[in-house]
Amino acid sequence: MTGAGRYAPSPSGDLHVGNLRTAVVAWLLARSTGRRFLLRIEDLDRDRSSTAVAERQIADLLALGLDFDEPRWVQSERLERHAAAITALGPERTYECYCTRREVAEAVRAPHQPPGAYPGTCAELTEQQRQRRRRERPPALRVRAGGAEQTVTDLWHGPVTAVVDDFVLRRNDGTPAYNLAVVVDDAESGVDQVVRGDDLLDSSPRQAWLAGELGWPAPTYGHVPLVLNGEGRRLAKRDGAVTLAELAAHGMGADQVLTRIAISLELATEGEPVTMAELRQRWDPARLPRTPWVLTGGLR
Ligand code: GLU
Repeated sequence: MTGAGRYAPSPSGDLHVGNLRTAVVAWLLARSTGRRFLLRIEDLDRDRSSTAVAERQIADLLALGLDFDEPRWVQSERLERHAAAITALGPERTYECYCTRREVAEAVRAPHQPPGAYPGTCAELTEQQRQRRRRERPPALRVRAGGAEQTVTDLWHGPVTAVVDDFVLRRNDGTPAYNLAVVVDDAESGVDQVVRGDDLLDSSPRQAWLAGELGWPAPTYGHVPLVLNGEGRRLAKRDGAVTLAELAAHGMGADQVLTRIAISLELATEGEPVTMAELRQRWDPARLPRTPWVLTGGLR
């Protein structure tokens, strides 16, 4: 079986041109390396996810000319597989954590730990302390990483090394945590090439490490520079016309949006009509612009 790339949106809002551009890059890299290309709906956050939004996201990706191989993966249908991975790690590799977000943020960290890294507060509690804490708060479950160091080599960022913290595997509402679900779903769907926005670069050493612990090879990683607004912040819905529906309301069709994305990737010139197949012919990963695409006032 050949490997696969994927695009894995969270269906919490319509895709904007930054998301669409990352999806285009993921498709180009997967298809130009002979891979299948999968779509995975990351809907574990039930309160923020909507099937209608997922359907619109898929329609937008298809409108740009991306295609996907079957099956379509839906994270919320795979809870048993996520739980099985926790079981496979074994009880000695995990521990319950009763900390609130605030306690984690305020705790003193060991030197060299990145912001947001868990300082290990609940790692060595006695059974008696656990029983008491459990009555106060339902626990999350963390992995015991033992201060492991992990390097991943990103296609565009080069080697990234980090000390893996005791990150969350299962949230305290029982939902599998993002890092666990991504690793299990990528591995079990045959994904060996991960392309996504570079806001997730920091998560990749954790994920590569966890894959290894579960007996899977880590995928290759490529983190794409984000699209920023005029203030240098990550593009968001409030930044003007940024979704296909908003742009269509301004008379800009999906074909024109694809041209603008292709220009930002230095794969087309102003006003030039392009298809995904043509972009695939022109695509050279070594030439991906490394600086963010800055959009002031949306795409219009
Ligand atoms: N679902 C995540 C997002 O929409 C992406 C996760 C991933 O690609 O690993 O930001």
